Amino acid sequence: MNIALFGGTFDPVHSGHLALARAAADRFDLGRVFFVPNLIPPHKQKQPLSHFSHRYAMLALATAEEKDFVPSLLEAPCETAETSKAKVKNTPAPSYSIDTVRRLKQTLRKADRLFFLIGLDAFCDVAKWHQAEALFRECAFIVASRPGFSLADVANSLPASLRPSPAATKPFAKIPATGDIILPGVTVHLLDGLNFSVSSTAIRDAVFKNKPLGKLVPASVAAYIKKEGLYRSPK
Ligand code: ATP
Repeated sequence: MNIALFGGTFDPVHSGHLALARAAADRFDLGRVFFVPNLIPPHKQKQPLSHFSHRYAMLALATAEEKDFVPSLLEAPCETAETSKAKVKNTPAPSYSIDTVRRLKQTLRKADRLFFLIGLDAFCDVAKWHQAEALFRECAFIVASRPGFSLADVANSLPASLRPSPAATKPFAKIPATGDIILPGVTVHLLDGLNFSVSSTAIRDAVFKNKPLGKLVPASVAAYIKKEGLYRSPK
């Protein structure tokens, strides 16, 4: 079975996330998409997040009707030697994608194929991730393309040791980010045709300003946000 790991802060999950996962599932014949709320994403350590339990609950509501979408506890808070040491220093341990991918792979069957599902905005930072090269060796990527980005932009975002030379990527600077990039140690499939400008930031802002959420989130998620009084205070 083809399986995707879709990580994010999901604070909250929104229609852009769900549309991306559905498009990827259709295009790449994914039998499961695991939505993995990050415990503390390394790149967002300064931004206070809603508690993991709220973000997970909203994912569970948003995916309840989709039999192939699974809210995942792979990065659920748990007491480990590392996290308790980190607590002493008062800095919680970050969650690294490489560890999450390896943990998920331990549960898969030999014939399963794992893909890492990600938006192009997040992919542009992938070279800075912990053990980025190893992550590319562990699984293929499905990257949701965005208008205005070129194939060269995607290739130039790869970790330095996997990145083609500037001379090799230059001819692709005017070619839209579609198709596949297959290099030694790298498989990137680009998923185009998606253009949802919705973001979790915009939703938190709308709730704070008492604006209607419309179709930006599923009705069940909107009801949960209201019931729990999320995003009422500025962050
Ligand atoms: P925030 O506004 O808080 O930064 P976000 O809306 O970008 O959040 P994340 O949880 O950070 O949501 O994103 C998880 C993943 O979903 C990332 O890979 C991101 O690129 C992708 N993503 C987020 N919004 C969209 C969208 N509108 N269309 C396609 N992909 C998206």
